[in-house]
Amino acid sequence: MEDYLVKALCYEGSIRAYAVCATNTISEAQKRHDTWSSSTAALGRTMVGALLLGATLKGEDKLTVKVQGNGPAGGIVVDSDGSGNTKGYIKNPHVSLTLNESGKIDVRGAVGTEGIFTVIKDLGLKETFSGQTPIVSGEIGEDFTYFMAVSEQIPSAIGLSVLVDTDESVKAAGGFMIQVMPGADEKTIDFIEQRLQEVPMISRLIDEGESPEGILERLLGKDEIEILEKMPVQFKCNCSKEKFGTAIIAVGLDEINAMIEEDHGAEAVCQFCGNKYQYSEDDLIELRDEAIKNTREN
Ligand SMILES: [Zn+2]
Repeated sequence: MEDYLVKALCYEGSIRAYAVCATNTISEAQKRHDTWSSSTAALGRTMVGALLLGATLKGEDKLTVKVQGNGPAGGIVVDSDGSGNTKGYIKNPHVSLTLNESGKIDVRGAVGTEGIFTVIKDLGLKETFSGQTPIVSGEIGEDFTYFMAVSEQIPSAIGLSVLVDTDESVKAAGGFMIQVMPGADEKTIDFIEQRLQEVPMISRLIDEGESPEGILERLLGKDEIEILEKMPVQFKCNCSKEKFGTAIIAVGLDEINAMIEEDHGAEAVCQFCGNKYQYSEDDLIELRDEAIKNTREN
């Protein structure tokens, strides 16, 4: 199944709902970072959450989600935008804990139960907007929900789910976000809460072939959903040799000289996607000329 996200309005606009299938996206992240089960689920859930949150933005606008917990996985950083693109990394990709008492991947144990959850929004304005809440669970889904309630003041139900196979590959990944708008009917909220209790794990549903539309129907009732938009989602990094070149110029002349004279070259590795860029001595000499030009101009 292709990866895509749907946006819907339900119950006469009193409920906003989003659902996403992101199996290929999370699989790409797993392969690029060679993550093990607990790290895969922690990074994958954060990416699915960032895609859902990103879907509330306009196309060009971006956000960054940072989960800085005290567990062995270390920090997680994920970027997402209003067009369904996401990329991310986890400090320690090789965390694989034994299953928790519910027989699920131990994400809390990897992320930790104390720390900070941050969302930074770049809406193309002069300043970025950022909100921060403490990590309340470490399971990621609850942390997104808490952030939405406290920082954004939108009561939401968020489910994020990644199914990892025995060979570490990603079998299925996806999630949903249901937002309650002011004026929503109590009966509607009770009904949805009931449905939330009964719905199976989202990644299992996706693994069985359920679509994002089908997930929303299960959660909200078949006749109440008006699909507004269907948007493809994907792992996408915008790094390039040129961009890292600009970063090399910024480190300064002494450093560039050292790269030329001592190392006879340089390699840059993108944290987000793992792509590697090689700079020959000639490349570095060009960058040095550029740096000298910049110094003169300043
Ligand atoms: Zn990259």
